[in-house]
Amino acid sequence: MTDTADVVVVGGGAMGVSIAWHLAAGGAGRIVLLERNGALGMESTGRCAGGFRIQFTSEINVRLSLASVPMIREFSATHGLPLDVHVEGYLFLVRDLDAWARHREAAAMQRALGARVDELGPADAAGLIPGLEIGGVVGATFGPDDGIADPSGLTNGYATLARRAGVDIRLRTAATSIRTNAGGSRVLGVETAAGFIEAPVVVNAAGVWAGPLAATCGLDLPVRPELRHVVVTSDFPGRPDRRTLVIDTATMFYFHREGSGVLMGMPPRGEPVVSHETAVDHRWIAEELLPAAVAVLPGIGDAGLASSWGGLYEMTPDHHAILGPVEAVPGLVLACGFSGHGFQHAPIVGTVIAELVTGRPPTVDVSSLRVERFARGELIGESHVV
Ligand SMILES: Cc1cc2nc3c(=O)[nH]c(=O)nc-3n(C[C@H](O)[C@H](O)[C@H](O)COP(=O)(O)OP(=O)(O)OC[C@H]3O[C@@H](n4cnc5c(N)ncnc54)[C@H](O)[C@@H]3O)c2cc1C
Repeated sequence: MTDTADVVVVGGGAMGVSIAWHLAAGGAGRIVLLERNGALGMESTGRCAGGFRIQFTSEINVRLSLASVPMIREFSATHGLPLDVHVEGYLFLVRDLDAWARHREAAAMQRALGARVDELGPADAAGLIPGLEIGGVVGATFGPDDGIADPSGLTNGYATLARRAGVDIRLRTAATSIRTNAGGSRVLGVETAAGFIEAPVVVNAAGVWAGPLAATCGLDLPVRPELRHVVVTSDFPGRPDRRTLVIDTATMFYFHREGSGVLMGMPPRGEPVVSHETAVDHRWIAEELLPAAVAVLPGIGDAGLASSWGGLYEMTPDHHAILGPVEAVPGLVLACGFSGHGFQHAPIVGTVIAELVTGRPPTVDVSSLRVERFARGELIGESHVV
């Protein structure tokens, strides 16, 4: 018997399951989702800090967030499924006057698109999060609609909806290649160790492995893995009560309350190391993360280490996602390269990819995010990459 589908989605992270459910709900026919692990959401999604925000510096990221964040906040009410969500805002601290001018410009753009973003003085910021070191802070912005949510909860929520809608979720099934016709101009389906699945449309939502998968049908995708650490502390005197996510733009160090301690992270300095390795670098935590943490919230110096892990950002050259159909390979659709902010965009990306596949007008115009932009030199700037 031939194994067939109308759409095969490769990747069972937050993105793949959201896409699969939105496709099924949008009448795209028989949907098969392939995940090579034994469970969903074990890779970038399962290592994510769970932040969602409207405060980005590119219009397209703000538009995606304006559509996606309400879908996270209202997930339980809309679908009747549990999701842990805390809407206690994002606070950006700025310690340089030139940077503050650029930051205010971005905030003005966010407001013009409909976001709520408040500009605060250093004392207001300290009033919000007592214990913050505000020496040198020249200004701050606060997005009251930003917050944090549970990435596993969202992934499993969409998976439940997808299964109920008839999506065939196949765990422990890796897509080994995307097969095209002899001229390479049309997708025929996906090869797996368990056999070939014939499908006219394949969605590549394989996270940091999207590049190797695309290469099997001759497409060079600029998606590179970059290691990020997350550290969770134990309780400490002066630990903030609010779950507001605080980002110091001088280093992009961030933290928010998590349980009885805080969860924190920071991008590494210097040239990124491109690797799929996720082992925790304890030297980096001790010598780089902790000093940056103490400079922003001195009380962290008295905290113990509760847990730490490494995970991979799926970086593109312009730190924006790659979304939509590929001109050179009709039938291939991309949803990858989220550059460290894919969790929060999973709901709207699922919506938009389903709309594009079924020929409906997209809720958000994502044409600027197609892969062809790299060859055309049409890169987009985004400086709020944490
Ligand atoms: C430390 C850290 C903190 C982060 N914090 C945030 C945050 O606060 N907010 C935010 O929005 N984002 C954050 N992110 C980014 C976010 O986690 C990712 O952008 C998002 O999870 C990407 O989802 P995905 O489904 O595309 O990828 P993944 O979750 O990586 O899923 C891809 C899946 O594809 C599977 N796969 C790969 N190849 C194949 C194949 N050939 N066949 C079958 N299956 C395959 C993998 O096993 C994997 O399960 C963070 C990431 C990290 C690492």
